[in-house]
Amino acid sequence: MSTRTTEQTYALDLFPRRDVTIVRGEGATLWDDTGRAYIDCVAGFGVASVGHANLDVADAVAAQARTLVTCPSIYYNDVRARLLEKLVAITPAGLNRAFLCNSGTESVEAALKFARHVTGRTDFVCAMRGFHGRTLGALSATSKYRSKFEPLVPGFSFVPFDKSEKLHEQVTEQTAAVMLELVQGEGGVRMASRDYLDAARAACDATGALLIVDEVQTGFCRTGKMFATDHYDARPDLLCVAKAIAGGIPMGAVVCSDKIQDVHGIHGTTFGGNPLAAAAALAAIEFMERHDLANQAKRKGEHLRAALEPRLPAVVRELRQIGLMVGIELKDKAQPYLAKLMEHGVFALPAGPTVVRLLPPLVITDEQLDTVADALIAVLGGS
Ligand code: PLP
Repeated sequence: MSTRTTEQTYALDLFPRRDVTIVRGEGATLWDDTGRAYIDCVAGFGVASVGHANLDVADAVAAQARTLVTCPSIYYNDVRARLLEKLVAITPAGLNRAFLCNSGTESVEAALKFARHVTGRTDFVCAMRGFHGRTLGALSATSKYRSKFEPLVPGFSFVPFDKSEKLHEQVTEQTAAVMLELVQGEGGVRMASRDYLDAARAACDATGALLIVDEVQTGFCRTGKMFATDHYDARPDLLCVAKAIAGGIPMGAVVCSDKIQDVHGIHGTTFGGNPLAAAAALAAIEFMERHDLANQAKRKGEHLRAALEPRLPAVVRELRQIGLMVGIELKDKAQPYLAKLMEHGVFALPAGPTVVRLLPPLVITDEQLDTVADALIAVLGGS
């Protein structure tokens, strides 16, 4: 049986598949089983920021796999301790302790539980078009994909993204937390204004609610800073991260302020904080720092914008870009253009029905970005 037939036969049919079998990656390049190369602007949904097959991560994983793979948090562990210290050092001031888990949705679940526990309140205010994951708690905080799974967790309400007045109306003394993305990823690459963030912080402070910022997609240099919060001086009480944290090895984390107290025994995990993922995360974060990936993302994002902006075809409604998080909103459905981009050797993502989203590895080269820009212009019907 071919790889495709085997997957089609034995995997649950959950995903819209592309007709390609990927067998290898390096940097921002992926190869299929016929040897064809593609420039990867999907990066495993924004995971492979340090590049595919990053040698630092590979070496760290190999060495740790020979030393100790699993070590639950009932014991102390040297590698996990170093990662915790590093996470607290690189996240915004005021975040002092972290919980380690295995994915974005798990980090959101944990943050929701911590917020309910600490405040003794039940309700959450989230943004329309926000995306926080697929498990039932995270889905309850997500305005899309939910209808088939109701009733979900009670107590969630939604306000329009980036509209401060509605936040003030909705956040009350029953609100445990406001949870927001600073740049909505799945929601179409939309950036929050500083006023909105200030309003969210003020509404939380006025009512005793906590502010949860979901940086699962924007964290770890994607937007041109280590965290998107660094663009705003936002002061979250809980910061959810995952995706790029461990160079492709599954990991998530919630980094918490001192308001998160007395949580002993209220949550747990088997795999979270395992030394293998912790070693990968330390290697990935040290790579980001050594190669200044935040500034690389900023400069390369501007390079791509400059290559696209002067020749955007008529089908483009708007180009939105922050670092190497790019959304091209079309007047048309995005899907057919994604298929054509693949024929041109470029993988990209949708973000809603009409947005083409690019989340390339931050190690992508300028030449590769020029090729991506040319492919986009050709496919979107420009010159
Ligand atoms: N939060 C945000 C902002 C995301 O973009 C995602 C995934 O795309 C998630 C949470 C869920 O992360 P995961 O797919 O690792 O569960």
